Amino acid sequence: MPIFAKDHPTRGSHSSSTHPPAERPGRPSALEAAAQQAADLYPFRVPSAWAKRIDWENLQDPLGRQVIPSAEELRPVSGFSTDPLAEQGARRIPGLLQKYAGRVLLQVTGECPIHCRFCFRRHENYADLPDSPAAWLPALAAIAQDASLHEVVLSGGDPLMLPDGRLADLTQRLATIPHLRRLRIHSRMPVVTPRRINQPLLHWLTATRLTPVMVIHCNHPDELDPAVLAGLARMLEAGVLLLNQSVLLRGVNDEAGILARLCETLINHRVIPYYLHLLDPVAGAAHFQVERAEARALIRQLQARLPGYAVPKLVWEQPGQPSKMAVDLGLSGP
Ligand code: SF4
Repeated sequence: MPIFAKDHPTRGSHSSSTHPPAERPGRPSALEAAAQQAADLYPFRVPSAWAKRIDWENLQDPLGRQVIPSAEELRPVSGFSTDPLAEQGARRIPGLLQKYAGRVLLQVTGECPIHCRFCFRRHENYADLPDSPAAWLPALAAIAQDASLHEVVLSGGDPLMLPDGRLADLTQRLATIPHLRRLRIHSRMPVVTPRRINQPLLHWLTATRLTPVMVIHCNHPDELDPAVLAGLARMLEAGVLLLNQSVLLRGVNDEAGILARLCETLINHRVIPYYLHLLDPVAGAAHFQVERAEARALIRQLQARLPGYAVPKLVWEQPGQPSKMAVDLGLSGP
């Protein structure tokens, strides 16, 4: 089984290989056979900066559980599909998705530094995704022609897998489109490979008239080690607005104490915990699902412990709706 990707791999995708191990901690061998079948369908990929934070002796380790293939992924579950958010229907042209008014999603690469087992795009075929300046021209033209757009969201895969020169070039082109106001980056890189937050990245991200917003993806407080926090501080000092989104995951962060620690750590480091997503029903990830009633109860516990600004919105996505859907917390439910 392939084990580790390098900290900042230059190639790799949901369908491609990982690199030879940089190091190999003692993973329980009993896990190997069952996990291999799942890894054949969706390759195991984890950078060493993340692997070092896993307690490999603990099968329930919250960071390990997010990335280690499991036999549970092979179990078909009714209601869980390969395209749970119907993104194929939201695609205007290859690489350009519009789900909501005023903003578009530009998928600039299919590559990710890590393969999260719960990812709603784990079945996506990235073969036709434009990932070069020439290939982005049709998407840029479509954005330029639509004056209702004020924000471009760079997504993927993970957009920070691309070299800084290419991202700088793309950002400059976007900044020439007068109706755009904001550039949002959705990336797991600041958390999984913190040294990616380097000076060239900070330069193209802030040397633009577009307001830079970085949405990181952190699910558990143990992900926020000193190197990650230092990278976040570099972005804040450069003037980037930082938000965090998490996915509520069974066996990872489905306890009020864990979520409270996550939110407090984020706030203490000036990152807004803005969304807690219910799991998107993607095939292979049903074992991560937390029922809605339990999710509501968790948020109520957070509300009782934390200031309002530290409590994320509990949301879910329903294809075709004009925004993310807030889960009704009610007053009388369980
Ligand atoms: S959750 Fe993000 S980083 Fe993880 S596999 Fe999906 S797109 Fe990649």
